[in-house]
This record gives sequence, structure tokens and C-alpha cells, in this order.
Amino acid sequence: MTISLWQRNPTNEEITCEVAIIGAGISGLSAALELESQGRSCVILEADWIGSKASGRNAGYLMRGGAENYARTADKIGREHTRFLWNWTEENLRGLKALGIESTEGYAARPSCLIATTEEEESELRRSVEMMREDGFAAELIEPANAPQDPIWWSSKPRVGLVNPHDAACSPSELIDLLSASLSSTPVFEQAEVYRMEQHDGRVRLLSKQVTVQASRVLMCTNAYASQLAPSLKEIVTPNRGQMLAMRPKSPSHARLEYNYYLNRGSEYVRSAPDDQVIFGGARTYHEANEATSSDDTTAEVQEHLESFIRELITNEYDITARWSGIMGFSPDGLPVIGAVPVKGIDDGKVWYCGGLTGHGMSLGYRTARHSVRVMLEHEQTKFSIDRFG
Ligand SMILES: Cc1cc2nc3c(=O)[nH]c(=O)nc-3n(C[C@H](O)[C@H](O)[C@H](O)COP(=O)(O)OP(=O)(O)OC[C@H]3O[C@@H](n4cnc5c(N)ncnc54)[C@H](O)[C@@H]3O)c2cc1C
Repeated sequence: MTISLWQRNPTNEEITCEVAIIGAGISGLSAALELESQGRSCVILEADWIGSKASGRNAGYLMRGGAENYARTADKIGREHTRFLWNWTEENLRGLKALGIESTEGYAARPSCLIATTEEEESELRRSVEMMREDGFAAELIEPANAPQDPIWWSSKPRVGLVNPHDAACSPSELIDLLSASLSSTPVFEQAEVYRMEQHDGRVRLLSKQVTVQASRVLMCTNAYASQLAPSLKEIVTPNRGQMLAMRPKSPSHARLEYNYYLNRGSEYVRSAPDDQVIFGGARTYHEANEATSSDDTTAEVQEHLESFIRELITNEYDITARWSGIMGFSPDGLPVIGAVPVKGIDDGKVWYCGGLTGHGMSLGYRTARHSVRVMLEHEQTKFSIDRFG
């Protein structure tokens, strides 16, 4: 992209700082908090507005673990890595609590519950509970016979549920507000899409309509949009759309769900929301080819699919109150990606990326982004290095 003379803000000022962050979602804001705590100067450049992308459009699950259940994750990445990842997400929630998330209006200390609807997933969840307990994690198994009085369990679909007793949910916007309000010295420029990065006098120069920034290092927290500025990330972080809707059942009792539910290996998710509403998301896995996109439209097929789940799992009588979508950045193994990225014309090691949170940035993002700053500036060891992709 280029910007014409006429499109540039005539008062476009030039700012110098130690680290420039691109992107003001959970990752960018959390990274800035870490830089401030280290006494380093930093600036954030945001293409739209703070929290405008995935960070302000998600389901608000503050859930332990990753995209898959414990047993399946251990089969894929090994038991030790899995234990590490689960601990990491517990620490993420502890970090958000220390910041004050519990005092936000939309916060609910409500357990999450993974539901199996197939025999295969049922055996995975049973195995997961055993493995989690062996590894020191609290986990409970619910059978339909001892399930709570939730509409979800009235249908014959759930075979078994795995409960994470210490999980929570929050309003994504309130989390973003909390992170922004916690910043004390970092300027955040909105409507400031970085359209070019170049090297100038040994520093990286970022060009946007609003402002030009020169920094010793750049941390790209651009999530699914990573490859627009750093094409080498194209195969590593891929955009995937997540669609959601909110509805209000005619009977308020249908809106009171005991848990934040996660079904079909996370393909669908449903939880109570304020004002007797229920939010429902997912069905992406049934429409994968279409949903591998960075267009944040909603589509009739996915929205209808979500509504069919509502009718099957909750009620036939409801009003839709909102429909939306957001773009997630998926990594090949579902784990975050941290590392220096090559950018043409700029010395290696000056531009870094933190993202690829694969649909779990609320559970991973705060801790991961703060850690990425220490990896970049203090060589802290990381299990999420981009080098694993060769
Ligand atoms: C529908 C949906 C439901 C989800 N549900 C959950 C959930 O319940 N729990 C959970 O843990 N996770 C969930 N997620 C995932 C979570 O929202 C993301 O992992 C997380 O928000 C990613 O944060 P981020 O800051 O890395 O990215 P983003 O929030 O996407 O922020 C990236 C920012 O970079 C900016 N940017 C990009 N390019 C440029 C540029 N060139 N110049 C300047 N700025 C730029 C963008 O405008 C954007 O604001 C969900 C995601 C979606 C879409």
C-alpha cells in the first residue's frame, strides 16, 4: 500500500521511541504494558481503533488450555508441552486478575465445560480428566445423569462434560478498556495503519497517515494481518473467520447457563451474556474453505448453521439481537508465534512478531505478549519461537 501526499495528515509528526508496536488489540496493549514496566519508551500504531478486530469481537472465554482438549493436545505436542500450555493459561488469568478484570461489570467467575457429542470425543474427555488430575489440574467429569438443569443437557446430544472449575468469562471490550486504562505513558495512534516499514539511520521507520515513528525495534501485534507487512509470515499465520450471534430466548430461563460451554472440540461455543441473552459462535469447521478469509462479513450459511444449533440445543423461541464476525490468526500447531521476522531492506532482528493465538487470545494473549517483549529484548527462553517452523 502507498499513501498519496493528499491523503497524509498535514500535521504528520515524527516520533522517536525505543519500541514501536503495530496493532492495539490484546497483544499490542499487553506488550506496551510490559515495556512501560521496564521503563522503556513505546508508541502504538493502530489501523482502525483500539480493540477493533478480534480482541473486541470474541466470545470472552477466559478458558484454561488451548484449542483442543488435554489428551488430544498431548497426543499432538507431547505431555510436557501440554502441561506447560495449561499452566500458561492459568497464569494468564492470574495476570488479568492482578490487573483488575474481576471488577469489570461483565466478568463472571463461571466454569467452562467441554462437551462431547461423539463416542470418540467422549473417550478423549475421559482420558483428559485422568491426565489433568495426574498433572495437578483441577477437573471434573459430568455425566448426563448428574448434569446441571441447563437446556444444553435437556437435548440428547451431550454424552459427557469436562469442567474446568476455575475458568471465567468477561466482556472483551471491558478487557480492552482495562488494558488501555492501565497504560500510563504510551501514546496510541488510531486510524494509523502502517503502510510501510523502512530502515533509516539504523532505526526502523514506520509510515502511517497520522504519524511517522522511528524505533530501534518494532513488535508487530497484527494477528491475522501479519503477512501484509511481513510476507514471510504468510504460511505461518493464516486468517480464519469466526462468526457469532447473540439471541434472547423468549423464556429467560433458557438464557441461564451454568457453564461456558465448548462443544465438538471447540467448533461451537455457547454461554450466557448480560440481559438474558445467549451468545453462540462457531460452525467454522463445517465451512472451512469459505471461512479461511480476512473478510469480516457474516454469511447466511454459517449464521443459519448457528441457529440450527440453538434450536437443537436451547430453544425454538428466540430473537436474534446481534450477528458479527472477527478474524483469528491461526498458527500451524495452534500455539502462539514469537520471533524476529525478515523484512526487505531492514536489518535482521529489528522487526518482531507476536501472535498466531489461534482462537485463544483471551486465554493466552496477555501473558504471551508480555513474554514476547522479554524474548525480544532480554533473550528470555520461549516455547513459542517462530524458529520451530524452520
Ligand atoms: C469470533 C471470535 C471468537 C473468539 N472467542 C475467543 C474466546 O472466547 N476466548 C479466547 O481466548 N479467544 C477468543 N478468540 C480469539 C481472540 O479474540 C484473539 O486470539 C485475540 O483477540 C487476538 O488478539 P491480538 O491483539 O493478537 O489481535 P487483534 O485483536 O486482531 O489485533 C490486531 C490489531 O492489529 C491491527 N493492525 C493490523 N495491521 C495493521 C497495520 N498495518 N497497521 C496498524 N495496525 C494494524 C488491527 O487493526 C488490529 O486492531 C475469538 C476470536 C474470534 C474472532
